[in-house]
Amino acid sequence: MYTMRLWVVRYARAFEFVYRCFEPVMVRLHPLWKSVGYQRAEKPVAVLEKFSKELLFDCKMCGQCILSSTGMSCPMNCPKSMRNGPCGGVLQNGNCEVQPEMRCVWVEAWAGSRQMTRGDRINEVQAPVDHRKRGSSSWLRVARRASDPKPGE
Ligand code: SF4
Repeated sequence: MYTMRLWVVRYARAFEFVYRCFEPVMVRLHPLWKSVGYQRAEKPVAVLEKFSKELLFDCKMCGQCILSSTGMSCPMNCPKSMRNGPCGGVLQNGNCEVQPEMRCVWVEAWAGSRQMTRGDRINEVQAPVDHRKRGSSSWLRVARRASDPKPGE
């Protein structure tokens, strides 16, 4: 998983392109999700999302995906769950102070973002992670938010 995670960041631009094609499809499927019921669609879609994103990004299913703002490096792999940049304990070789054998996810995020067309989104301030959303599908959340925006969703 770790090797795959690093590989994905190296090809962040390609994954950004895939995501930018995929997102509108999820949004266009809103009528389908609505007719099935978002609640009912949640479980199968979350299983599919977990399977694919765990494999590629070492995803922890936080339910509030920000990969497109973090150079395709999942911030939830940070032992401190930092979502707005590194903690200040990055080792001189760019590795994590908690897990010295691992590259800091934010060093990777910066490298990935430099390849992406919208890489400057890494400067956006992210909200603290909402643990109530853990395990839920970010894909469905994006579709619901785009089609039926409600505060707090
Ligand atoms: S940000 Fe959250 S949903 Fe996205 S890959 Fe990381 S754990 Fe998974």
